[in-house]
Amino acid sequence: MTTGTLFSSVVPGARDRAGNDPIFALNAEAARRAAAGESIVNATLGALMTDDGRLAVMPTVLETMARALDATTAGYAPIAGAPAFLRASIADLFGERAVANQAVAAATPGGTGAIYQAVVNFLEPGQRLLTTSYFWGPYREIAGHAGRDVDTFEMFSPKGGFDIDGLATALDRHLSTQGRALVALNFPCHNPTGYSLTEAEWRAVADQVRRAGEVGPVTLLLDCAYLRFGGTAAEAWVHAVPKLLETITVAFAWTASKSFAQYGARVGALVALHRDEAERAQIANALGYTCRATWSNCNHLGQRAVTELLADAELRRRTDRERQGLVALLGGRIAAFNDAAEAVGLSMPRYDSGFFVTVFSPNGAATAASMREAGVYVVPVSGGVRVALCSVAEADVPRLVDALGDGVRAARAYGGRT
Ligand code: PLP
Repeated sequence: MTTGTLFSSVVPGARDRAGNDPIFALNAEAARRAAAGESIVNATLGALMTDDGRLAVMPTVLETMARALDATTAGYAPIAGAPAFLRASIADLFGERAVANQAVAAATPGGTGAIYQAVVNFLEPGQRLLTTSYFWGPYREIAGHAGRDVDTFEMFSPKGGFDIDGLATALDRHLSTQGRALVALNFPCHNPTGYSLTEAEWRAVADQVRRAGEVGPVTLLLDCAYLRFGGTAAEAWVHAVPKLLETITVAFAWTASKSFAQYGARVGALVALHRDEAERAQIANALGYTCRATWSNCNHLGQRAVTELLADAELRRRTDRERQGLVALLGGRIAAFNDAAEAVGLSMPRYDSGFFVTVFSPNGAATAASMREAGVYVVPVSGGVRVALCSVAEADVPRLVDALGDGVRAARAYGGRT
């Protein structure tokens, strides 16, 4: 009889992995305490919640999903995605602009799948994805799991704006050390800092990335998960695309998760643009191959419903209106947060839209730990804590900001930087 495990089937590289995202683990702890009757403010999870704690949904989206369920959507979708869905996601990014003719796309399970597509097709094994010093944590897991890695450049200049020089230097370094560069920028409404590039910053980014494209193969991946929450400034990148296409590949991680409040549907696309038709065919083939080799094909029902929502004028009008309600809900919280944060003297980037903001702290882990004692949950990140205002009722904002002020002071007293 065998007592205990003699052999482990789990290969060394996969041993001792955290099976759950740390944010989901913190969220679960906050939910447990709340269920046990404690008064808890939970600013961990990146889903937009109503002020009374329900997931904020869009009725027209739910109706359309229900209607789209039939015998055809029970069947497999085409491997690379339903053609009408791919056309609709490209049109959602570019409308009638001519640049849409230079795009190819593949359906993916959310933005996550699109980032995976970019990592495996625009980087060799062992190479590094370049991104900002503050970044969405799963970039590291997606890259690492695919045998790639992440490298960063300082996101903010000493004046508080986007560090263009940091990006330019890092691009040059990647081209000289690995012979290619894939840079991921998550704007507007950057997760975790809340920062959105200004139009001038977009232009400067485009200049630098375009310049780097003269030296070697460069792909700019715009992770636009929060695109529809970014207001009009969010469209600034559109003007930069034709110039970028003179030298580089531009790719978009497009997702329905936030813009249609359909996190669970797993509907997304990697949309890639290149000036050369033969190169576009290469890209489309590579993306289709990756679909087949990973998830095979994506949610058919979700693609059908999202296509209708994007392509049918009346559905689009209704969805836009419902989304405006969600943007306004979040806007009220952001205004309350900014006022209270200024009064308390919190240090943070400019925050005018989006689900999150980062409050700077000399020790994010110590800040988050001291806040948890006060029943307020945020996520520690290097250099601060991420506050998911998307899941906090406006009435709880004053308590949240007070706890942040106390937490940052506690971290200063504790010392050390993480
Ligand atoms: N990128 C960023 C910055 C995100 O915050 C998220 C989700 O939280 C995603 C991509 C991917 O989202 P999904 O895979 O749900 O579309």
